[in-house]
Amino acid sequence: MIRKLISRVFSGKKAQASRHEPAVIPVSSHGITRDRISSGSRRVCETLQEHGFKAYVVGGAVRDLLIGADPKDFDVATNATPEEVRRAFRRSRIIGRRFQIVHVMMGQETLEVTTFRGTLDEKTKTDEHGRVLHDNVFGSQAEDAARRDFTANALYYDPATEAVLDYHHGVGDLKARTLRMIGEPRARYREDPVRMLRAVRLAAKLGLSIDPEAKKPIREMADLLENVPAARLFDEMLKLLTSGHSVKCITQLRDEGLHHGLLPLLDVILEQPMGEKFVMAALANTDDRVRRGKGTSPGFLFATLLWHEVLAHWEKLKASGELKIPALYQAMDYVLDVQSEKLAITRRIAGDIKDIWSLQPRFEQRAGKRPYALLEQPRFRAGYDFLLLRAQAGEIDNEVAEWWTEFQNADGNQRGEMLLPEAAGDKKKRRRKRKKPAAATADTPAT
Ligand code: ATP
Ligand code: MG
Repeated sequence: MIRKLISRVFSGKKAQASRHEPAVIPVSSHGITRDRISSGSRRVCETLQEHGFKAYVVGGAVRDLLIGADPKDFDVATNATPEEVRRAFRRSRIIGRRFQIVHVMMGQETLEVTTFRGTLDEKTKTDEHGRVLHDNVFGSQAEDAARRDFTANALYYDPATEAVLDYHHGVGDLKARTLRMIGEPRARYREDPVRMLRAVRLAAKLGLSIDPEAKKPIREMADLLENVPAARLFDEMLKLLTSGHSVKCITQLRDEGLHHGLLPLLDVILEQPMGEKFVMAALANTDDRVRRGKGTSPGFLFATLLWHEVLAHWEKLKASGELKIPALYQAMDYVLDVQSEKLAITRRIAGDIKDIWSLQPRFEQRAGKRPYALLEQPRFRAGYDFLLLRAQAGEIDNEVAEWWTEFQNADGNQRGEMLLPEAAGDKKKRRRKRKKPAAATADTPAT
């Protein structure tokens, strides 16, 4: 009875917290002038406000600006319904079924405009573990703030006044470099287990520490990630791996016991001494590229993560008597079949991954015309970058990688001099091929 009363008092307090007035932090105190936000997000907010609605830049962009990081994108939150937003902008469309949002096109920018979300209640549909399945109720701004995950993500920037509205002490937490969950962390992880991954990613990316209250339950709740749809996990993993801090993220995921089942087989890969070295070298390489503002392709990334699985299967098939190249193709298909199911790797990405893998044996061929043909391959660059990683991780002889670096940069004469003598078997094979042109491809190396 007493316990019930106490819990009612506490939940009453929480309900009040979501209705409370935000702290209004003026520009003189936070220093973010309106020219720091993208022109598109500014115009979207201005137009909605001219139509009589509330509109703010919200979430990650405000958080990143406050700690001096470069925002990836600028999202807008408003009390206008998706239909009202769509009517306010000529170039806009409503997307999403679970929770409708509006994409507004402004010049080169596409802005995501979201209507304030309402509080979850007993009518909210969840799965048997408490994961929220449908969440399409609109609400007040305070309710929207309480629905966000971390205090630092519940900040609203008004370009008109340049003030930040802070509902949950997010600015203070950011100053203290703490990532704090809004509400009771266990309940919030049950609603959406992906928040555990977001905690790790945001903390690693922004150099924040996860508040102990939010950190504690992660280890014991990690299994809830198994019920998250594969496509959602894939999106989140991609964000994590391309955050520019993937090494730190993966290390922290392991420390928190979150890596199991995330990227199926990632735990297996990381447990193989060679596999771990390769994956870590690949991730460090990706981090470096991201930080220097160079693009990364999901195909390349997943090709590296799954390579040691392919190697293991390839070896097995060769040992059972399969020819080298057919064995490689079988191993690639096997690994991709298993992973695609769990990871929702799209067909296009799977195609990119295969291209990179299938080029690898061709780097062994450094005689005759074959190196020239390989240089002309559209995916040569990705294949070569992959080769460098293999050499760096000690999987292949460094000399092969160095040869290809030199061969690319050499002029015509130098290239001719670099070619290795053709093996006797190779010559015979090519003569045979000339007589019967349709039989084999020039790509197929001697086995
Ligand atoms: P970044 O864009 O840097 O990866 P972000 O925090 O902006 O990080 P987004 O996925 O763009 O992440 O989400 C925008 C905002 O939506 C967040 O700042 C947060 O307020 C809210 N949000 C996103 N995902 C969740 C979630 N799983 N639970 C609650 N709120 C969320
Ligand atoms: Mg964002």
